Amino acid sequence: MLITHDTRCALDAVVDLVNTAPEDGTADGLADLRALEAFVAGHRISDVGTLTELDLSAVRRLRGRFAAVFAATDTRIAAGMINELVAAAGTTPRLTDHDDYDWHVHYFAPGASVADHLAADCGMALAFFVVAGERERLRRCEAPDCRRAFVDLSRNRSRRYCDSRTCGNRLHVAAYRARRKEAAG
Ligand SMILES: [Zn+2]
Ligand SMILES: [Zn+2]
Repeated sequence: MLITHDTRCALDAVVDLVNTAPEDGTADGLADLRALEAFVAGHRISDVGTLTELDLSAVRRLRGRFAAVFAATDTRIAAGMINELVAAAGTTPRLTDHDDYDWHVHYFAPGASVADHLAADCGMALAFFVVAGERERLRRCEAPDCRRAFVDLSRNRSRRYCDSRTCGNRLHVAAYRARRKEAAG
């Protein structure tokens, strides 16, 4: 499937957002306003004005909703969730060719809050996967102690683990063991 630059940025943002959620033992990656400011700057989310505690709680709520989309085992359920969060954000599709990028569509409404901006643009990026019949590429890492969200962009949709150091290594070890077993058998 064709993934444009902006879709790619939106995917990176939504994966990072979902993965800020505290899992057993890990700290909340969006613990305070400064963490949200760093997230916004890191993903170059433009035009969201001065961030407040309200933005922080809205983005945390949105994070839970996106996490549910990644955890969905059924496309119809995922589609329903994406529809709801995009509709709640309100969108204004606009063609743009900013910063020397080719023509593409921005979905967030002008002046949207950071949560609505993310819901619109990331929600639509996920929607394209449903449309392309590729919803299953939106995954959670299968390592039992990990569960990080990731988007599997491998050619044959074969990725099972996220690219964190531990899980990436686990993958190599598993492949190595499988090869040895094959050689021995
Ligand atoms: Zn753009
Ligand atoms: Zn992992």
